[in-house]
Amino acid sequence: MSTKKHFETEAIRKQSKRSQFSEHSTPLYLTSSFVFDDAEDMRASFAEEKDKNLYSRFSNPNTSEFVDKIVSMEGAESGYAFATGMAAIFSTFGALLQSGDHVVSCRSVFGSTHTLFTTYLPKWDIETSYFNVNEVDKLERLIKPNTKILYAETPTNPAVDILDLELLGKIAKKYNILLVIDNCFATPYLQKPIEFGADIVVHSATKLIDGQGRVLGGIAVGRSDLIREIYLFSRNTGPAMSPFNAWILSKSLETLAVRVDKHCDNAFKVAEFLESHSNVNWVKYPFLKSHPQYKVAKKQMKLGGNIVAFEVKGGIEAGRIFLNKIKMCSLSANLGDTRTIVTHPASTTHSKLSEADRLEVSITDGLVRASVGLEHIDDIINDLYQALNT
Ligand SMILES: *Cc1c(COP(=O)(O)O)cnc(C)c1O
Repeated sequence: MSTKKHFETEAIRKQSKRSQFSEHSTPLYLTSSFVFDDAEDMRASFAEEKDKNLYSRFSNPNTSEFVDKIVSMEGAESGYAFATGMAAIFSTFGALLQSGDHVVSCRSVFGSTHTLFTTYLPKWDIETSYFNVNEVDKLERLIKPNTKILYAETPTNPAVDILDLELLGKIAKKYNILLVIDNCFATPYLQKPIEFGADIVVHSATKLIDGQGRVLGGIAVGRSDLIREIYLFSRNTGPAMSPFNAWILSKSLETLAVRVDKHCDNAFKVAEFLESHSNVNWVKYPFLKSHPQYKVAKKQMKLGGNIVAFEVKGGIEAGRIFLNKIKMCSLSANLGDTRTIVTHPASTTHSKLSEADRLEVSITDGLVRASVGLEHIDDIINDLYQALNT
């Protein structure tokens, strides 16, 4: 019988070894370095003959506990924790790509990831080709002999499109390229890309993993040979997660399943409400039957997540008016918080893009993104209702 327990149990019961004080909950190890018994202990530890902590840029009991939990939750072999999600993504590229390599990515990626592809990776002669979410059939034609990584997020930000992970896994395997998935919107509770063939899964732990809008964090997990490269790159370049943030995030994981269940329940109700409202053109939520990739979402996700995208009637101006009328929900750039957050990408985060470029990432003028929180569902719906009624 396997000793691996259920997801919720692993999230709670996986802990660093107790200290001499027999504490029940893992304490915070605010120490930059660790000591050795003698010269031989120190030599063997540095030679990696012993599994000991040396210095907190390399590892720390708090970051290791957080990493071990996500590794178990994602079904990965190993992992490394970072100060932010972007540090995890950049370090993954830094470790696995060489100058002259090529990346194929879905165009709908987090804004800073897009900036890495278009501004920074080209500095090292690494090129990226994009495919659109609704043109996955064209993806194979973008693959070249120097393609090293196939990269995607699903569900996508902010339009909540779904990419077929099984299909991406098959393509990556066929061409012998690495599949890297940003699993931030789903969390390992809802979706496990490794089961579909992902080699590396990255997260911004800042979002649903923390879930309470307090700390920044990131993580990369996956195949141990690749994580070893990412670890060596990171221990030398220094984007490590702080023990304090790891302590908070490991604690957050203890409630990930109950929080995400409730987030999804609230989000589904918000999506149904919006679909019935006459001032809303359309609603996109993975577990609504009207979602274009509903079947794929059902295949690869346990529940639909907490992000709902919808279009208010009346274009950019209507989107701005809607935001101004919101009373309780927050206008903020974060997501995956206990507090419901609404954003209007066309007038804010994506306002610098041309209309044509916005449409490439499915951002229409009246698109609103709601990150549905944990307030009482009636209060969330009442706020959206009063803001939609002109
Ligand atoms: C927020 C986010 C990131 C970046 O994470 P940070 O922790 O802010 O650096 C990357 N990918 C997705 C999908 C995100 O939502």
